[in-house]
Amino acid sequence: MGKRICSVCGYEYDSAIGDPENGIAPGTPFEDLPEDWTCPVCGASKEEFEAAPAAQAAEATSSEKDMSMYQCQTGNCGYIYRPEKGDRKGKIPAGTPFDDLPDDWRCPVCGASKKMFQKLG
Ligand SMILES: [Zn+2]
Ligand SMILES: [Zn+2]
Repeated sequence: MGKRICSVCGYEYDSAIGDPENGIAPGTPFEDLPEDWTCPVCGASKEEFEAAPAAQAAEATSSEKDMSMYQCQTGNCGYIYRPEKGDRKGKIPAGTPFDDLPDDWRCPVCGASKKMFQKLG
């Protein structure tokens, strides 16, 4: 039993919950998932999944995610990343905190890297 994290999109497979959308019953260990099972969010294969960090960290991510908005500081772009909306263009699911965006994520408006973003508020 335990959790596995998709290294591509950050989706968390929790064996206690399973993956009802794909017919995976609650209580199914990650190891018992069919080989052709893929991440329900981004379609990554099982190989892309990593063991979840220690329980303490997992708890922190579920309850204390930093859902702050971040604004692109490049020139006059001003794009604001809103975690509750995600970034459909960048295939970022809604509910993804800015910190959890992949390092190669770019501003969908001007293409600036994450480093060019500054926290709002
Ligand atoms: Zn994924
Ligand atoms: Zn921008």
